[in-house]
Amino acid sequence: MNKSTFKGTIISIQPRIRLTRSFDEASHTYLGYAITLKGELVNTKSTFSIGIEKAAQAKHEFKVNDVISEACVPVPDPDMEPAEFHKVSKLKLLSKGTTGSTSSPWELVPPALEVYRQRGHRRLAARTYDTKCISCMWGARMPVEIIIDNWNPRGKKKYRFETFCYGPLNCKLYKAGPKRKVEVRNKMVYIEEDWVDEMAVEHRDPEECSW
Ligand code: SF4
Repeated sequence: MNKSTFKGTIISIQPRIRLTRSFDEASHTYLGYAITLKGELVNTKSTFSIGIEKAAQAKHEFKVNDVISEACVPVPDPDMEPAEFHKVSKLKLLSKGTTGSTSSPWELVPPALEVYRQRGHRRLAARTYDTKCISCMWGARMPVEIIIDNWNPRGKKKYRFETFCYGPLNCKLYKAGPKRKVEVRNKMVYIEEDWVDEMAVEHRDPEECSW
């Protein structure tokens, strides 16, 4: 497949994680990092996103305001990926940008994926994510695969995106938004109550104020 060349400034770098839901169960697949760039894609001005693997991030330590380049291909299934392009090759760091915000939204080099897994997340209102959190390393926009019949994992599935926050519990920008609803078999609906998020982050210091 022909690769698309790109060059751009990083405006967001967040964990690249896929969520699978089945009734009240949720599991995560850690794919790497999702980077949104403002620049040129095949010599055309564009804002676009690429997915990279964790080894590439460990090597380059990308963050917001860095300028990077090279080549990528469209993802085969946009329902299953937080980024539009992947299989990035010859990745180059052209220039290190100035340090971004050191408080919410945090625009630093994002931590290892293991740190996200250890911290756990809370749901984050989609509008808050869109307006305040896109550049924050603690935000994540996950593709979600919903297995409708938990007795038949190969049966009907639905797809959507959900937004989450891995950041400090006292972030002033945080808004939970509505409870998430998951379609299950026989047209029933599972509603994810607040205690699910509370349990996911109960091991963290509520007064944690920075990273
Ligand atoms: S709500 Fe979460 S993702 Fe948004 S700025 Fe605060 S810590 Fe970052």
